[in-house]
Amino acid sequence: GKGAAMVTAVAYRLAAQNGERQSILDTLRLSHEQLLEVKKRLSAEMVRGLSKQTRDQTSLKMLPTYVRSTPDGTEHGDFLALDLGGSSFRVLLVHLKSGKKHTVDMQQKIYSIPQETMQSTGEELFDHIVSCIADFLEYMGMKGASLPLGFTFSFPCHQSKLDQGILLKWTKGFKASGCEGQDVIVLLKDAVRRRQEFDLNFVAVVNDTVGTMMTCSYEDPQCEVGLIVGTGTNACYMEEMRNVEVVEGDDGRMCVNMEWGAFGEKGELDDFCTEFDRIVDESSNNPGKQRYEKMISGMYLGEIVRNVLIDYTAKGLLFRGKLSKRLETRGIFETKFLSQIERDRLAMRQVRSILQHLGLTSSTCDDSVLVKEVCSVVAHRAAQLCGAGLAAVVDKIRENRNLNQLSVTVGVDGTLYKTHPHFSSIMQETLQELAPQCQVTFHKSEDGSGKGAALITAVACRIQNGGQL
Ligand code: BGC
Ligand code: MG
Repeated sequence: GKGAAMVTAVAYRLAAQNGERQSILDTLRLSHEQLLEVKKRLSAEMVRGLSKQTRDQTSLKMLPTYVRSTPDGTEHGDFLALDLGGSSFRVLLVHLKSGKKHTVDMQQKIYSIPQETMQSTGEELFDHIVSCIADFLEYMGMKGASLPLGFTFSFPCHQSKLDQGILLKWTKGFKASGCEGQDVIVLLKDAVRRRQEFDLNFVAVVNDTVGTMMTCSYEDPQCEVGLIVGTGTNACYMEEMRNVEVVEGDDGRMCVNMEWGAFGEKGELDDFCTEFDRIVDESSNNPGKQRYEKMISGMYLGEIVRNVLIDYTAKGLLFRGKLSKRLETRGIFETKFLSQIERDRLAMRQVRSILQHLGLTSSTCDDSVLVKEVCSVVAHRAAQLCGAGLAAVVDKIRENRNLNQLSVTVGVDGTLYKTHPHFSSIMQETLQELAPQCQVTFHKSEDGSGKGAALITAVACRIQNGGQL
């Protein structure tokens, strides 16, 4: 009869809607072959980025860091460290004790950097930084002491020595004018001079990946890779000097800051990108830049999710087809949320309350299920892409050494990696599949960027003072 026909029609419509939802999600799913292709393209870019002839044409900058030696445990003394690169700025006093290995005492203060300051002028930004340093020195009662200082500056920098870092471009939320193309040590020194209160003794500029690797290798000599999956993403590793063509000399190894977040800037990821990735890129601070980072890191995953949800809603597949101001607000899905919503055994009503907290009063239980699924697919892809990148890195190290098998440790830091319930296991699974000849151990670093800068400064001081390289 008529009733049965209506039921069938409803069932048919629901099935069709579900099909539509899934086919949208399918665009965010990557096959094994696609991931292998990502690994291959990244490997090729690594080689091209290291070579003098091709390095100007590549998306991967493969920047030499002038970090050659890892700590040997004899480093000691007091060091200042600065850490700039996420949403806050830190000043640290690090005390390394030699003899008794691995002892590090730290005192630190965290300062916020207002959004306006991040996007104002270089002078304003660096004046703000120096006023934070002044506050710290005051607080510690050490204004007169000119300790050796390491600066963790987590942006792509060209270096031709350890204590220089010419900013190539800002990434993440930073946009202060007049800094790109400048040496950040000079910018900082100028700001110190303007203040006329104290002196600083700059020894090293360090990327956060490098600091993380160093901190980890202080405890585990097999650690030759540093990885960050936080606001942004990046990796570094120990490369053979003979392959680092832009640096004189063929002996030994040097840590190379890959700046892998920029992968994809030459279109290498275009065939894996979705319309959502394109929207996120276009509405970002730096359209066309950091394409791989925009598919992986904490600053962007929530934005991808939000754009999928907008699309669903506009198509009547979610939130009863009602778009809200809230959903149209950039940045509402923070990393924290992505990690919360995927926590195991989280009851659906908890998902609903998280959504409510975000101001998304999801009307049905199905809505909550769907939002959670979107988060899971987006994070899954990010972790797989990251695993594919790492596969390229560890296989490069293995091939450099002509080994059939390599066992290596990766030092990792970053809030997304550390707080997301599935990111690390998916990443490791992908890595295992794509680089089966490597046995990779992961070591979470405890504050690699702070400690790492101090360690690198300490190693540099040890060498300056007549130690062996
Ligand atoms: C920067 C890298 C940094 C990474 C993680 C990226 O946006 O370009 O230098 O290592 O974020 O903080
Ligand atoms: Mg060389």
